[in-house]
Amino acid sequence: MSKIKVLDEQLCNRIAAGEVVERPASVVKELVENSIDAGATYIRVAVERGGVRLIRVADNGCGMDADDALLCLEQHGTSKISTDTDLANISTLGFRGEALPSIASVSSFTLRSAAAEDASGEGVEVKSFGGKLSSVTPCGMAHGTEIEVRDLFFNVPARRKFLRTQATEEHHIEEVMLNIALCYPAIGFELKTDSRTVFASAGAPDGDLSMRIKEFFGKNYASFMWKTEHIENNIRITGFTAAPGFTRNSRREQRTFVNGRKVDSPTLYGGIREGYSTIAEHSGYPPVLLFIEMPPGEVDVNVHPAKREVRFKNDYAVSRAVASAIRNALKQRGGGGNREETAPETGFPTGRIPLAAAFQHAETKYVPQQSENLLFDYSQHVPPSHPMPQREIIDRSDKHCEVQEALLSADSAESRIISGGEDAVLSAEESSAPPLRRDVAPTAGGFDGLWPDEIYGIWNDSYIVGGGANGIVLVDQHAAHERIMFEKLLDAAQRKSVASQRLLLPRVAELPISQLSLLLKNRELFAGLGFEVEPMGGSSIMLSAMPSSFTGDPAKILSDMLSELVENAGGKIPVELHYIARAACKAAVKFHDKLTLEMAANLVSELKKCRQGTLCPHGRPTLLSITGGELMRRFGRK
Ligand code: ADP
Ligand code: MG
Repeated sequence: MSKIKVLDEQLCNRIAAGEVVERPASVVKELVENSIDAGATYIRVAVERGGVRLIRVADNGCGMDADDALLCLEQHGTSKISTDTDLANISTLGFRGEALPSIASVSSFTLRSAAAEDASGEGVEVKSFGGKLSSVTPCGMAHGTEIEVRDLFFNVPARRKFLRTQATEEHHIEEVMLNIALCYPAIGFELKTDSRTVFASAGAPDGDLSMRIKEFFGKNYASFMWKTEHIENNIRITGFTAAPGFTRNSRREQRTFVNGRKVDSPTLYGGIREGYSTIAEHSGYPPVLLFIEMPPGEVDVNVHPAKREVRFKNDYAVSRAVASAIRNALKQRGGGGNREETAPETGFPTGRIPLAAAFQHAETKYVPQQSENLLFDYSQHVPPSHPMPQREIIDRSDKHCEVQEALLSADSAESRIISGGEDAVLSAEESSAPPLRRDVAPTAGGFDGLWPDEIYGIWNDSYIVGGGANGIVLVDQHAAHERIMFEKLLDAAQRKSVASQRLLLPRVAELPISQLSLLLKNRELFAGLGFEVEPMGGSSIMLSAMPSSFTGDPAKILSDMLSELVENAGGKIPVELHYIARAACKAAVKFHDKLTLEMAANLVSELKKCRQGTLCPHGRPTLLSITGGELMRRFGRK
């Protein structure tokens, strides 16, 4: 018995008309959504040449019988809605019945399907070419559906021309798959591009998303995303939201989903901004992964052909619910209530960086299972002993609450700016990660752990080893130096009192166009930081002064900082003072400077005076501590 009906004309006209097939990624999205609607638990996607040569989606869903396999290619053939009332209460991903016919009309299309009800082990294969049916034959297969789309847009040259490079089209496909996989953690997904497996992720039977977040974004990212769960006015919000200070410089990582669909919406972004308004200012975007569920009647998904936008019946209620969900998550983790419960279990004094986190940055091959779990455990409401930026980024001499709060807001504002987006440097672990993991070393948050009382030595001209009665401390001398310089330079620039040194011999430098225009458009900011430059015509500039705290080749420092800025500004001009100061300090500090013990002690005491001495300007930790208790435990003495 066929399930698919061709919608009547009147209903068709009410369905937002539009092109569903914009590019290969839209084909992937439509096909995978069909597989999800068909109840599949495993979906395999393979593409060749960015999806232009081939897109294949295979699922183990309910399948179609021979009648339906033909009907699904009819314009507006759908099993998902049949009346006006259905259109107002959509609970499936598809409903328009236009994806398959549209896709088939611009490709060489093969569909194989066998209905779950049919135990014969026989399915049907339907082939069409440019939308014209070319063959219908029986084929042996287990239940499920496999669709192959070859030579996309072969008969629409204008569309073909519009496609971008293979890498870009692949990127769009990866994004589509990533969003869907995040939204459906119980379903297994596989994506292959040409012969490379981009990811193969088994579904979590309990629908727990944490494994997938780790798989896709890396452990660091995962440990800075706090779980949230909130219900308000029939709106249920679950997901993860960034710890204070963990931000990106674009909204791309604010992933919001409504009733199982990735949706971009000013209402939702407004709610996110509002949720963070008490702890952050207006630049930088905290990543979020929010899954919003509400009665289908409360949200109209029939406004955008690719369903990327929706209309809420009550924008205000939705945005308020999002804000509360975020605030609750931050309060729960930031308030410290749960910390007390978890601290004894981990054996760490409250708020210290757990050893597993320490080893994440150290090079170690052996991390015991138990410590792994400490780092990231979403089965608990609060991952134990996670550093708590709000309370802990404080100078210990400051006992006064208000002062702490003031420091907190300064800290989060600053770390927000400096934590970087795509720009920050990938850690060793992450750079070897699969391509979808584009995350960066996030801000490590607070560190109320040990500061060294004594310096024991310096390892490899890179790490200061110190400690005290309570344990061992390692300080990254390069990161520490950068932090100290950065705060001093930025403070001086804000007070308009940067000490600048005139160069005995002004340098003339040839700059690439992008660097030159960035420099000239931000000349005042550079001047405020102590860099004096003069255009010399063409692509040359003359550098006549730089900050007096800087040593080293001035031309090299300028070119290093400009190249970092150009890379990270993402075409945005003007850039902010913070970015310039950060790039300047990075360029000015060298890794292998030889320090004496006395210099190292000085560096540490300067670092301790910094507002956010525990993080380098790029958001990586400047120091790690290992408590005595932890050492004993790890050596099996406790
Ligand atoms: P829509 O999803 O809007 O209904 P489509 O053109 O995407 O429209 O699909 C048409 C119909 O084909 C669906 O309603 C469904 O009945 C059937 N169908 C498509 N893909 C699958 C699949 N992978 N498994 C089972 N049935 C499918
Ligand atoms: Mg569909």
